[in-house]
Amino acid sequence: MARKPETNIDELGLSATALAVVTERYLCRDSDGRVRESPGQMMDRVAGFVARAEDAYRARTADRWAERFSALLRSREFLPNSPTLMNAGTGSGVLSGCFVLPLEDSLDSIFATLHTTALLHQVGAGTGFAFSHLRPHDDLVHSTGAHASGPLSFITLFDAATQVVRLGGRRRGANIAVLDVHHPDIQEFVHAKSDRTALPTFNLSVGVTEEFMLAATADRPHPLINPRTGRVVQEVSARALMETIAAQAWRTGEPGLLFLDTINRANPLPELGPLEATNPCGEVPLRPYESCNLGSLALPRFLAGDHLDEQRLAQAVRVAVRFLDDVIDVSDYPTPELAAAAGATRKIGLGIMGLAETLAALGLPYDSEMAVRFTRRLMSRIARWGHAASRELAAERGVFPLFDHSRWAAASSAPMRNAQVTSIAPTGTIALLAGTSAGIEPMFALSYTRHLLGRAFVQVEPLFERLATERGLWSPAIAAEIAATGTATHPDLPVDLRRRFVTALEIDPVWHVRMQAAVQRHTDAAVAKTVNLPETADIDQVRNVFQHAWRAGCKGITVYRSGSRPDQVLRPPPPT
Ligand code: ADP
Repeated sequence: MARKPETNIDELGLSATALAVVTERYLCRDSDGRVRESPGQMMDRVAGFVARAEDAYRARTADRWAERFSALLRSREFLPNSPTLMNAGTGSGVLSGCFVLPLEDSLDSIFATLHTTALLHQVGAGTGFAFSHLRPHDDLVHSTGAHASGPLSFITLFDAATQVVRLGGRRRGANIAVLDVHHPDIQEFVHAKSDRTALPTFNLSVGVTEEFMLAATADRPHPLINPRTGRVVQEVSARALMETIAAQAWRTGEPGLLFLDTINRANPLPELGPLEATNPCGEVPLRPYESCNLGSLALPRFLAGDHLDEQRLAQAVRVAVRFLDDVIDVSDYPTPELAAAAGATRKIGLGIMGLAETLAALGLPYDSEMAVRFTRRLMSRIARWGHAASRELAAERGVFPLFDHSRWAAASSAPMRNAQVTSIAPTGTIALLAGTSAGIEPMFALSYTRHLLGRAFVQVEPLFERLATERGLWSPAIAAEIAATGTATHPDLPVDLRRRFVTALEIDPVWHVRMQAAVQRHTDAAVAKTVNLPETADIDQVRNVFQHAWRAGCKGITVYRSGSRPDQVLRPPPPT
């Protein structure tokens, strides 16, 4: 059926920014590059395609679910990750945003994975890898009698390939490389991005253990182990290594840390083996070949006066979980291993975005006990509703195939359709479409210039402008100050307004970590979050953030000191 183009009609009430993002990223084009659907039609395309999964479970129900899904997407109460919006029903049907791929210590494995990586980048997915099993550089290669080139050389190779595969310009590939803190090349890895232009398609994270964290505190030696032989090749000072990691993170924002023991305590399927890597922004620890499709609830859409409409939120959670479960079935997978792994555990990642805007609307300063408590309770409810929805699906469709081997089976006999239900994505693009603040991040600034499609949009945080206007406080002086500083610090503004619009750099790092930990507590997978530090922060502060995050039960941690990197692609600060 021919679609009627109605691209000038914005039936969803999108802002200029949202419309520009949708047009640039998501709308289908014909062979001449002309846009051939409206934003609303895009939502219908995605909903209709995903709902096809329903017919396989119960005949002739797809249309009904297509309508439900479409209503949910059009309301922008919930949006799936970018690949689903870009690819559903277009022929290049990989819908999951995140994959983890295997890397064994052999050229066969490395180049097979390089191939799969290229196929995934071509369609806009992100890929994560543990390079921990590769033998260190200068180690022996028996077959040739030569010396191995080590993980760093292969990370460089993957980076180059990623840059070559530019996927038609919509989204450039994103990767994460994880290296275990015991790997002999760990120093080289930690310094890999000293040159700030190096490895632009990679985030780097050191996989640390509790033993290492304790050794760093107690100033004990730390063994480096050759993964090929299992032998300790050197002992270094854990404290000195931690100091180096913190200093590098202070300088460049990288590496981040992954707390592998915390991650594995929550591994739903320890029988499959340990979790050693995550997707690029860290919110989904996965086994090799596994993938996860993400989707996020736009919290401000559920605001009803001075509270969140929990009934409506619970309902949206239920439909969103079903949507994400359907995505697994209708998604394409470039290799049989990827299809098998996705089907075996059926991991999905329902999360939230717009937390900062919601807190501001409710009058809760992000850096306050009240906000942390509110968020923890909210997330615990979302998790409860999400798990209930997965159980309902299990009753209807059966449990995920490896259920009997999972912690879910051990913990209670409650059936689950999905080995993992919740995850907090950065929502770098979809939050723009939803018109709200990204993920669980605080607002970065109250005014910003967005450069999209060659145009500059200057925006003041709309909620701030509305509240200030309602209270008769909006003046040219205040507007000018906000445009200049990005913060609500003008002395004419009442304290409550200033407090509730506190921005990322004004927030003490402790609160960043506390908020991340509060959300993590009720999240099955992990939480994408960056702890923003002012330019004046010192290395000690970075180390303290690392220690605090580990003790608070976070699964990973990333810091970003203002001005420490010229061009930041994946990890926030959010787009300016
Ligand atoms: P979006 O808002 O576009 O759906 P997010 O910012 O929430 O995406 O990122 C979710 C995940 O999608 C990331 O952790 C990563 O795995 C993947 N991802 C993000 N940006 C890219 C990119 N430019 N290319 C490939 N994958 C990406």
